[in-house]
Amino acid sequence: MSTAHDTVDFDEALAMFEPVLGIETHVELGTNSKMFCSCATAFGADANTQVCPVCLGLPGSLPVVNRTAVESTIRMGLALNCSIAPWCRFARKNYFYPDMPKDYQVSQYDEPLCFNGYLDVTVETDDGPRVFRVEIERVHMEEDTGKLTHAGGTTGRIHGADYSLVDYNRAGIPLIEIVTKPIVGTGVLAPQVAKAYVAELRDLMRALGVSDVRMEEGSLRCDVNVSLNLPGAEWGTRSETKNVNSLRSVERAVHSEIERQAAVLTTGGRVIQETRHFHEDTGRSTSGRSKEQAEDYRYFPEPDLVPVAPSEEWIEELRGTLPELPALKRARLQAAWGIGEHELQTIVNAGALELVEAAIADGVDPAAARKWWTGELARIANDRDLELTDLPVTSAQIRRVEELVADGSLNDKLARQVFDGVIAGEGDVDAVVAGRGLAVVSDDSSLLAAIDEALAAQPDVAEKIRGGKVQAAGAIVGAVMKTTRGQADAAKVRALLLERLGVSE
Ligand SMILES: [Zn+2]
Repeated sequence: MSTAHDTVDFDEALAMFEPVLGIETHVELGTNSKMFCSCATAFGADANTQVCPVCLGLPGSLPVVNRTAVESTIRMGLALNCSIAPWCRFARKNYFYPDMPKDYQVSQYDEPLCFNGYLDVTVETDDGPRVFRVEIERVHMEEDTGKLTHAGGTTGRIHGADYSLVDYNRAGIPLIEIVTKPIVGTGVLAPQVAKAYVAELRDLMRALGVSDVRMEEGSLRCDVNVSLNLPGAEWGTRSETKNVNSLRSVERAVHSEIERQAAVLTTGGRVIQETRHFHEDTGRSTSGRSKEQAEDYRYFPEPDLVPVAPSEEWIEELRGTLPELPALKRARLQAAWGIGEHELQTIVNAGALELVEAAIADGVDPAAARKWWTGELARIANDRDLELTDLPVTSAQIRRVEELVADGSLNDKLARQVFDGVIAGEGDVDAVVAGRGLAVVSDDSSLLAAIDEALAAQPDVAEKIRGGKVQAAGAIVGAVMKTTRGQADAAKVRALLLERLGVSE
């Protein structure tokens, strides 16, 4: 039997097996009040201060549906090219766990509000951008559960905890769940397709204004299903990795699960149907519980709520409120910026489209906006495990760095260090330049002093250059760059050096 740490290399795994993905996404809607009561939904309030008899499930309390939540769900369904049910009901999902005081969650079961849609996503391949159509099984409404905190254990999970705390502020916040149909045919692009799909969903919801989609606050959470099968064979048994909470983690979770399952299958094991927990720190998952079947939840129609029956007129009215959708917006920006599809996709994949757009609107040169947000800033965010949007860099700061590069006070290498300082909280651009002593050394006398020092330290090299071996100059230039900590223009140092020694190229 294979352990969680035995893996087969990703490319090897996909040379043998075909992956099938499924993604369930829960999104907290940005309504002011909860799904079935008028309690507030603001994030970060003191525990159990945003509760009432309805969301605490007290006897005799009756729920009422939040109209805005229904509207948001229909708009999301329309944007995902779904059919909208003319009549549907809520259902009780029964389970025994203290995160829901009623012992059931109100959800939708066999009558989702929206169904049979699709979302096209683009991923970058060696042969250029490739579009995958991700089919949507359903978009349904439900309420969020409360938040449990398990204290005293080492894992933060209930097993081994001394006690648990529960906060019902989140219980009853409107959620929509978006479920894909099985995603096949991705091959080695599976992790990127999964990530691109979640990114596209996020952008879509932001554009619709139905949710703030802050993944770090848990307002968008993904469960990622993965299975592997031999080419032409039946689909394999799938695992479900729960609560994958960043775009990067979606990609990593699919990647690592493919490697894990391939190891199980190639060592004669059997993949078991289970939920797994993804760990951000290791990029791997561990086994959770074996998966409940739908019948374990004893779903039945919610008797306390009237059915939802949106009229044709209402649906058309909501269709009229759809904004420019992200795919169309990208096409428009690509044309406006005069860049190729590949270049645009690089910006999108870096998660930088809105940031670049905002920077350009703030007067940053378009090429500079693209260069910094998809280059150095993306690298820093990746190194620090942050979303690009979390970097505290403003358009004004990018403009200032560009000014300093243009007037020769900074070179690219120094500019990168300036951003590093800005992000580290060392102050604004000029403060970092001053604080770190970052400026191109341009006055000849200090450069000549550094050159003389380097020549004195390496007299044999100096002799070679004097004797006509101009290619030896690199050693002296390198030494000067080192003593000036990269703050000199290498071409200029070289010219000064040769002049100093009376040698020409
Ligand atoms: Zn309430």
